[in-house]
Amino acid sequence: MLSELKELEKLKVVSEIAASISHEVRNPLTVTKGFLQLLQDKTITDDKKDFYIRLSLNELERAEVIISDYLTFAKPSLDNVELLELNEELEYVLKIVTPYATMRNITITLSKTKQMFVAGERQKLHQCLINLVKNGIEAMPDKGQITMSLHESNEQAIIAIQDTGIGMSEDQMKRLGTPYYSTKTTGTGLGTMVAYSIIKAMRGEIEVDSKQGVGTCFTIKLPKVNCENKH
Ligand code: ADP
Ligand code: MG
Repeated sequence: MLSELKELEKLKVVSEIAASISHEVRNPLTVTKGFLQLLQDKTITDDKKDFYIRLSLNELERAEVIISDYLTFAKPSLDNVELLELNEELEYVLKIVTPYATMRNITITLSKTKQMFVAGERQKLHQCLINLVKNGIEAMPDKGQITMSLHESNEQAIIAIQDTGIGMSEDQMKRLGTPYYSTKTTGTGLGTMVAYSIIKAMRGEIEVDSKQGVGTCFTIKLPKVNCENKH
């Protein structure tokens, strides 16, 4: 009985993950599509052009990696775990999401701090952060502001992603992280599920604070890795 239940549980996880693949591959494709649209503008400088092409290639590569990542997700492997410096990773995420935000009259700021390391898989952390920032952007139909910040508390690294969007009700907040819950016409309701499971795999926690008409703040707490003795 117990093993049957376990099998069912496994099947459920596998089908959720399969659905996540298409969702997660859509992110880099959307970003790349945005860059290609920007490239149609004949007046942009060569530097900008190179920048968009480079980021598009990065994103397409990301799509590739995500697919293979998710296909091997069921395997409990620690193969790709490495030390990640959070200022660098946030900087990367900022670069990726900025064009998407700019098109929607949204500014994103990042307040950095001293070096801070956590253990995890780079692609997955990017995915998690991009999902949350994207939700923030989508919560601001007119214009708005997203603030990403990093600080530490006790032995934890704390990443906060704050938006000035439509906010959520208590009920909506409770449903976050569960699959297929979406209030958007083209939403999949998988973005937060993926984000939550990635942070859980990194032994971290996600908290959410939101007020309707005011905005939302996602706080991610991750165990810090002390690197003082590293060369
Ligand atoms: P999707 O974005 O495809 O709808 P998600 O799992 O990413 O799926 O988000 C689920 C739902 O949670 C969204 O449809 C939205 O209602 C709500 N939500 C998530 N993040 C925010 C946010 N920053 N502001 C307002 N609502 C949010
Ligand atoms: Mg989403």
